[in-house]
Amino acid sequence: MNPVLTAPAEATFLGFPMAVFYFLLPVAGVALFVYIMARRMAPLVRAAPDPRLDHPGERFRLMLKYAVGQYRHPRYLLPGLLHIALFAGFMVLSLRSITLIMTGFVEGYTLPGLGGMTGEIYSVLKDVAATVVLIAAGLAMIRRGVFKPERYDVPAEAGIRDHSWEAVLVLALICTLVTCDMLFEGSLDAALRQAGEHPELVVPGTGRWLFGNLFATASTSTLQAWHLGSFFVHNVVFFFFLNFLPMGKHFHVITSLPNVFLMKLKKGVIKPVRWGVSDDQLDELDSFGVKKFEDFTWKHMLDFYSCVDCGRCADQCPAYAVKRPLAPRFISIKCRDYAFEHYPLRGDIHPSDEPLIGSILSEDEIWSCTTCGACEAECPVFIEYIDKIVDLRRGMVEDGMVPQSLQKPLRALEKRGNPWGKLEKKRLAWSTDKEFAAECQVKVLDKKTSAETLYFVDSITSYDDRMQSIAQCTARILTALGVDFGILGRAEKDSGNEVRRFGEEMLFQELKTQNTEAIAASGVRRIVTADPHAFNTLKNEYPDSLPPVQHISQFLAERVRSGELKFKALDADERIYTYHDPCYLGRHNDVYDDPRRVLDAIAGLRRVDMRESRDRSFCCGGGGLMLFYEPEEEQRMGVLRVEMARKAGASVIVTACPFCLVNIEDAIKVAGLEGKMEAIDLAELVARQMEV
Ligand code: SF4
Ligand code: SF4
Repeated sequence: MNPVLTAPAEATFLGFPMAVFYFLLPVAGVALFVYIMARRMAPLVRAAPDPRLDHPGERFRLMLKYAVGQYRHPRYLLPGLLHIALFAGFMVLSLRSITLIMTGFVEGYTLPGLGGMTGEIYSVLKDVAATVVLIAAGLAMIRRGVFKPERYDVPAEAGIRDHSWEAVLVLALICTLVTCDMLFEGSLDAALRQAGEHPELVVPGTGRWLFGNLFATASTSTLQAWHLGSFFVHNVVFFFFLNFLPMGKHFHVITSLPNVFLMKLKKGVIKPVRWGVSDDQLDELDSFGVKKFEDFTWKHMLDFYSCVDCGRCADQCPAYAVKRPLAPRFISIKCRDYAFEHYPLRGDIHPSDEPLIGSILSEDEIWSCTTCGACEAECPVFIEYIDKIVDLRRGMVEDGMVPQSLQKPLRALEKRGNPWGKLEKKRLAWSTDKEFAAECQVKVLDKKTSAETLYFVDSITSYDDRMQSIAQCTARILTALGVDFGILGRAEKDSGNEVRRFGEEMLFQELKTQNTEAIAASGVRRIVTADPHAFNTLKNEYPDSLPPVQHISQFLAERVRSGELKFKALDADERIYTYHDPCYLGRHNDVYDDPRRVLDAIAGLRRVDMRESRDRSFCCGGGGLMLFYEPEEEQRMGVLRVEMARKAGASVIVTACPFCLVNIEDAIKVAGLEGKMEAIDLAELVARQMEV
């Protein structure tokens, strides 16, 4: 009981007992919240299936690390720290808000476990938390409202509403909530002091302490008004806040914890066309991919609700950087706006049969993605884009919406198993080249010829005149290290990594089956490849019965460690080297250190890392069929990448992927840097420098 001021539960307004109002307010507020949530879940129950409850222990651990621990937030330091302060404060203050709501109709209410000494400690903690939250929310409002960082921009051509005002409003509501608590407590502390009593322990410098001092000489009636007024405003604002959250981008406050818990656990793999339908039942499906909103899985819809609109994904997206018509966050915002419009809070829901492509999303937007994974590596709430984009492409491919420039390579893949449409027998041309064959013989595995290791070459390295050098260098290295290896030759088909990401699932399944049978028939015990795209799909998307797969950089790092691979020192080399992490080796498979270890084993090689390296590497722009795509863009991704290497002070860019090498070499020419910059594949550098 407050001995000096009337407590909220005892207060009356025009003779009406406020306890009744304070009891009805949460009843109505919670009922409204349940109603809104039920309406918001309506599209999810109509969505495609998506099993996400496997490995619950692992999911819980990841949720603690990434959602509760806010692990990814400090990747953007200042906003990350502000968010951590707000989130931590929010956790502490949620107990306080419940207490205040209950205090409205149960005088002197304390939550179970928060009485006595624990309650006093909690009281100090929540006073500090409230002050930290007030400062953090104030700074965040200034950042959003005054400095307006570029990554929150919504250009007019994006065709969406700018939701920034929601962020400012929510921050203002948070400030109101914590300030009300400070006023409520500060007025009571002042009244107690005036009555010669001792308030609870108050930490100097907190908002409560400040208001307690400001109110030191105020009259009792003034203190009473602040005490009851701030309580009233707190409780009304609290329920407004609660029901405002599911109305827009701050839905993430409710959905981000479950969204992180339900994250995709396996990297480097594209979701099946439809969960629950096995690869050999695909023929039975009426339709492929996502065409209308309800074709998305329920988890992908939850992603739309969970997007914070922080812009980190677009900030890291290479397509956005070169001004292609794609910003991943806009996909989420457009789809969330679509859900809110077609599944309104009042009246009938009206799902639309209108295809998403052409209404809210555009063909170019969806084809602009290189599936590099930068957006997913950055998103603090683990929103998935690649699976959604591939699902949309599946629908577009089925409806014949394939860009002109990609139609020819696709037909060639269907007919010849490679996008160039070259004859199967030409696949091993690199190994039969006279000069090369004179020094290195490569076995072609068949019924009569076997080997322990398969070198899986894949299409670009087999057919591109320049990239054939990677195949020859890989073969030289394997030979020099005494590896018993061979290739599949004509029996090898394109690995299908890009075909799948392009949305051609049936063709991918065909290529996978043919390669799997050829590999099984070869009897090899392990597979090595110098192409990260082949590495990714063989390792993650082919049957588990396949022998273990290594990228050549992993194989080389092992041999460096064992001392079998030694290098000649670089002769007085003045150049600085940098390593470009290929997306399908780094982000999709976490192979970052092995290629660097190999480079660092070469005496005299001076290496720097670009700022945009490892999981923040910048896509070269040519993954798979995108090599053939002619998108609308202001600049080539490769040119930007070369610029990044130059900024880091490097003049030699080492890659470990044929696609990267094609793009970077091309970009060096486009940028007019021939003679000043150079690109080389790791296998080429190792073959040149190894001691044999
Ligand atoms: S995968 Fe890469 S290109 Fe595609 S949206 Fe994400 S960041 Fe952009
Ligand atoms: S998808 Fe993730 S990174 Fe992108 S704006 Fe939304 S929350 Fe931020």
